Amino acid sequence: MIKFSQVSKQYDRTIFALRDITLTVNKGDLIFLAGPSGAGKSTLLKMICGIERPSSGTLTVNGQNVGKLKASGIPYLRRNLGLIFQEQRLLLDRSVLANVMLPLQVTGAQRVEAERRSRAALDKVGLIDKALSLPQTLSGGEQQRVAIARAIVNRPQIILADEPTANLDRDNADHVLSALKSFHAAGVTCLISTHDEQFLHSANHVIFLDQGQIVDHWQNSSAGGGK
Ligand code: ADP
Ligand code: ADP
Repeated sequence: MIKFSQVSKQYDRTIFALRDITLTVNKGDLIFLAGPSGAGKSTLLKMICGIERPSSGTLTVNGQNVGKLKASGIPYLRRNLGLIFQEQRLLLDRSVLANVMLPLQVTGAQRVEAERRSRAALDKVGLIDKALSLPQTLSGGEQQRVAIARAIVNRPQIILADEPTANLDRDNADHVLSALKSFHAAGVTCLISTHDEQFLHSANHVIFLDQGQIVDHWQNSSAGGGK
């Protein structure tokens, strides 16, 4: 589904954000990206959705060579991706429901259908009773679950989540993780960056990055809460 072949990324001449990454993500995988701040986790996720381009090497996503994609091809690429990034904050002047409906409106879905699917998505993250609330009346963890609902409302094949539990307490972090895992259980491929040790303990597929390189790749198909 996602294939990195000797991919490197340099933001400038001296810094390699990623160096010689070779990695295959298969359909149905749930992979955690671990590593210290500055290791290259965000850069790796941003390349998959075309926010950043490889400086060298080949990256294919659903058979498309992302490095060669024209700007006009990026929206098509993203149609299959659910993105949960820090930069994509909720719109504070609109209801939770309106926030979740946004991606469907962009693709021109009928309003009634968009609302039905958005309510279904909120129901899946356990927030249907907050549909008409404004985001700032929700806790940090609830807001992050709204962001998850917004990311999956288009039924993406792949979810990319960059530090989705940053700044959350244990309880909220666990809620967010279980929401992500429920979509994984429904067949969605998930790539999640984190430095939450607790998640890594229960994970069965972890890629450790340090200074732009994969320093460890840990996979255990039998243990942990897999399906
Ligand atoms: P992580 O997500 O693991 O914290 P990042 O992918 O954000 O790591 O960063 C990897 C490296 O690339 C760091 O050295 C960071 O400073 C650098 N970097 C990230 N984004 C940019 C950018 N837009 N311009 C220049 N350097 C960047
Ligand atoms: P419907 O299929 O009628 O849209 P569902 O109850 O099956 O409603 O889905 C609820 C919400 O979860 C929808 O907004 C849907 O887009 C979202 N969703 C996204 N990806 C998946 C998935 N792989 N499996 C189930 N639901 C998903």
